[in-house]
Amino acid sequence: MKILCAKYVITSATEEPKKDHALVVEGSQIKALGPVSDIKDKFPQAEIIDFGESIVFPGLVNAHTHAPMTIFRGLADDLPLMTWLENYIFPVEKHLRAYWVYWGTKLAIAEMLRSGVTLFADMYLFEKEVIRAVEETGVRATLGEGLFDFPSPSYGPLEKGLALTEELLKEFANHPRIKIMVCPHATYTCSPDTLKRAAAIADRYGALIHIHLSETREEVSLIKARYGQNPPAHLDSLGLLHERLLVAHAVQLTDEEIELLAQKKVKVAHCPESNLKLGSGIAPVPALLEAGVCVGIGTDGPASNNDLDLLGEMRTAALIQKGLTFDPTRLPAQKVFEMATSLGAKALGWDILGALKEGYQADLCVVSLDKENLVPCYEPFSLLVYSARAGDVTDVMVAGEFVMRRGEILTFDVREAKEQVKKISQEVRDILAQRN
Ligand SMILES: [Zn+2]
Repeated sequence: MKILCAKYVITSATEEPKKDHALVVEGSQIKALGPVSDIKDKFPQAEIIDFGESIVFPGLVNAHTHAPMTIFRGLADDLPLMTWLENYIFPVEKHLRAYWVYWGTKLAIAEMLRSGVTLFADMYLFEKEVIRAVEETGVRATLGEGLFDFPSPSYGPLEKGLALTEELLKEFANHPRIKIMVCPHATYTCSPDTLKRAAAIADRYGALIHIHLSETREEVSLIKARYGQNPPAHLDSLGLLHERLLVAHAVQLTDEEIELLAQKKVKVAHCPESNLKLGSGIAPVPALLEAGVCVGIGTDGPASNNDLDLLGEMRTAALIQKGLTFDPTRLPAQKVFEMATSLGAKALGWDILGALKEGYQADLCVVSLDKENLVPCYEPFSLLVYSARAGDVTDVMVAGEFVMRRGEILTFDVREAKEQVKKISQEVRDILAQRN
């Protein structure tokens, strides 16, 4: 049993931060919470860890990424989504190898830990390698193999991708830190038949479905031309709009579509920096939240962002809505923090995460208030959203175990991951050179 003490403890995005408080962690769970002196009296045998002048807060949730794409970071920038995908990403992904995915994910996890991410949603290829990295590094994830109509470099024909998804759903049904979701990539890469088959598997296992939706204007016109409906109505007609659907982006939505997503209890992963970088637009986040939609925050893959810094992503999410509407009261820090914690956890299918309360999982982070950019501290939510940045996180705990302590990642060799990804980047360069 451990007692964690700090100057400020943020228990939840909907409560005032607690001053000079302590958390009791037993096993993977939070057992108690209270003022430091009360807790020390009540649990005299427990080991005391005093973080001092720090903020302890619930681990952040990256609600949409493609973690292994660290290997393609900066490969092709300043291009429209379809050109970027079709001329650069899809051609190199044809040569994707399992070990690229494994090392790319390990590097991604290190980067995410430094900005306080303890749970992430991942959709990519060779997802078994992502799972291996998640298991070894001690973090938490909801993930699935990306499904397309065209053959995949990892599983080959679609049939095998569906079978693999089902195999993973069975194998990880009761894993403490891993949940499997069904991941048809998008409405423009998956036929109605593929979407229906993916949905049938998700229904059978009560699993989440994760898909890219209404990301760009081009996507909306393409789907409208192909099927006579916008992407949300198209998914609705196939029976996919429901509370187990997590859509990434949701940028190009009409007011009616916002209402439809709210009515069907669809979850949204908002990816502001990727949407800005690819020139896709700005998602109507305040309207979605007002309609009652559960909206989390995602970085998207590090090839379209180009980092996995969720602290920065929170700041961007807050700032762009203010600039867009000439209204500085839009999307305040505390709301953005809720999106990055409890709403994100709910969107990813975890109900005892995203807050530090008795009975919840002990997934938490510590930011030291000793950093120049974090002095003084009038308001912890504001400090975390507007002033903190990746690298300010000193300690991370997942399921009651320290994954990072005093700035050092404990569960794996980060230097090795960096070296391996550098080597892989040379292989990627060679493949692109042969193409040209
Ligand atoms: Zn994505």
